[in-house]
Amino acid sequence: MPIETIFDTMEYGTAPEDRSVALQWIANHGGLIGPYVNGAFAPARDDLAIRNPATGEKLAGMTLCTKDEVTEAVQSARAAQPDWQKAGGAARARVLYALARLMQKHARLLAVMESLDNGKPIRESRDIDIPLAIRHFYHHAGHAQLMPSALSDRVALGVCGQIIPWNFPLLMLAWKIAPALAMGNTVVLKPAEYTPMTAMIFADICSQAGVPPGVVNIVTGDGSTGAALVDATVDKIAFTGSTSVGRQIQEATAGSGKSLTLELGGKSPYIVFDDADIDSAVEGLVDAIWFNQGQVCCAGSRLLIHEAIADDFHNRLKARMDKLRIGDPLDKSIDVGAIVDPIQLQQIQALVQANTAGQTYHAQTPVPEGCFYPPTLITGLHPADTLMQEEIFGPVLVSTTFRTPAEAVEIANNSKYGLAATLWTENINLALEIAPKLVAGVVWVNATNLFDAAAGFGGTRESGFGREGGWEGLQAYSKPRQPLPEPAQVTPFTGQGAAADDIDRTAKLFIGGKQARPDGGYSQAIFGPKGQLLGHAPIANRKDIRNAVQAQLACGWGKTTGHLRAQILYYLAENLAAQTNRFAERLDAMT
Ligand code: NAP
Ligand code: MG
Repeated sequence: MPIETIFDTMEYGTAPEDRSVALQWIANHGGLIGPYVNGAFAPARDDLAIRNPATGEKLAGMTLCTKDEVTEAVQSARAAQPDWQKAGGAARARVLYALARLMQKHARLLAVMESLDNGKPIRESRDIDIPLAIRHFYHHAGHAQLMPSALSDRVALGVCGQIIPWNFPLLMLAWKIAPALAMGNTVVLKPAEYTPMTAMIFADICSQAGVPPGVVNIVTGDGSTGAALVDATVDKIAFTGSTSVGRQIQEATAGSGKSLTLELGGKSPYIVFDDADIDSAVEGLVDAIWFNQGQVCCAGSRLLIHEAIADDFHNRLKARMDKLRIGDPLDKSIDVGAIVDPIQLQQIQALVQANTAGQTYHAQTPVPEGCFYPPTLITGLHPADTLMQEEIFGPVLVSTTFRTPAEAVEIANNSKYGLAATLWTENINLALEIAPKLVAGVVWVNATNLFDAAAGFGGTRESGFGREGGWEGLQAYSKPRQPLPEPAQVTPFTGQGAAADDIDRTAKLFIGGKQARPDGGYSQAIFGPKGQLLGHAPIANRKDIRNAVQAQLACGWGKTTGHLRAQILYYLAENLAAQTNRFAERLDAMT
């Protein structure tokens, strides 16, 4: 009997994980959770209900922290920071190792709590979320140890405000707290309203691991608590979440001197060429879009499939979708769990229902009532269709076809996001040609969702900026030890020498290696501080910007050798040096 037939005739049993360990933890805390400040839990209130999305049952009540409570947490972090920095890398490494080891000891409690709180399958929280979070602490313990020798020119930023989403609650906490602590910062972290539970267990672990009071503070609440943290006197905000909130935070911190990193949304392409190992690509796609119910910032949510294999691929994918098991997240044999909250479920339903293009296929698999959504595939879409452009953040895959590698790249990059990309081909030359052309922070070849604490992760475009993990991630939690040298003095403008006559009065744009008149033909007069006319500067419009971006894309600078680029940069420097006075006088005249 073929193996598929054997599976078809099998009765599936359930294998539920025992949840009592997590419920006991909650009971021990009086059924209430709240802020952890200065090394202890403050008395908690029943302001907001924390629920298990799979059943709707209330797990605990939670404090909605006020502005004053956020201020108190920031003050506690501020007071603890100098000593934490002075303790040195080796002492900080000891604490980070202790955190990692204690998380390992409590791994089952953390995994069960994560699945209860978030709705993700226990298989994922047990085998991915929790081990990766632990790995982040081990990895950054090493960086703390190495800091005095490997990063002797860097120092901590100070107090970091950290705001995380609900899709990987403990993992995002680890991504934020481990590097910050390693570099000598202290933190105030705000978990998402939907999923604060594992952060509370982590707070408990901090007390057991000997984290000095005030080094780690956690404030519970909703978006208003996050906004209060952004406004507080912190030195850095690290945010992971939606692009719209990221934009608000960027506006709120602009000009404040606060450092900022943003890890935002995505609509990542999953490109399958006609020579790919199709069954592997199908299996990879299951992981790319149905992992964590598709609530993954870097989910491979846009399938780009070579026209010649599209029908075959879609058929095999549908067959695989029908085998996915959706149900109780605590069941060890479940593939797809619950959506994090009914509000999120409504958003997914609304987006899919509003879409009239393409053909929608829901997996033919039993779907429990409540906060569940079936694995879904929408085929026959065009690159400009809403669902090809907008992030759905649920178990919905959209698909379109391409004919040539160049077209695949064009469609892949036709997005406001730039977080991740995946490509499947058996042709290594094709992979090496395509990968660098994809606008994405990370490109996976013949694999997907590969993460490690040593590999920096982050996006471009509206997916944000800054990297988390590895050496790159440490830059975002430290600054140069010495203040930068004062700029060299320039001779004040005397009106002698390079006067207005010497200035090109009709400056042009510089696009694609030549002077160009602005498309609109407009220019503006530039005056010096004493009101003297210095010249006219062109006003560029959208077309000029488009031309400049196209010229930049076409110029091939990235493909030149390092040696050539070095020669050109030296040549530029020599020429700038030769004209030092002229530049100084012009700058002086303008300012
Ligand atoms: P969200 O609404 O932006 O929430 C993210 C965090 O910000 C939550 O803790 C939230 O608090 C808080 N927040 C909300 N409004 C705020 C404000 N005005 N000021 C400060 N903080 C505020 O995002 P979400 O809907 O929870 O999460 C899903 C999004 O996160 C998706 O778009 C996904 O792509 C993105 N994401 C990106 C990455 C990445 O690494 N690039 C990773 C995971 C998720 P409350 O939840 O308590 O309201
Ligand atoms: Mg939210």
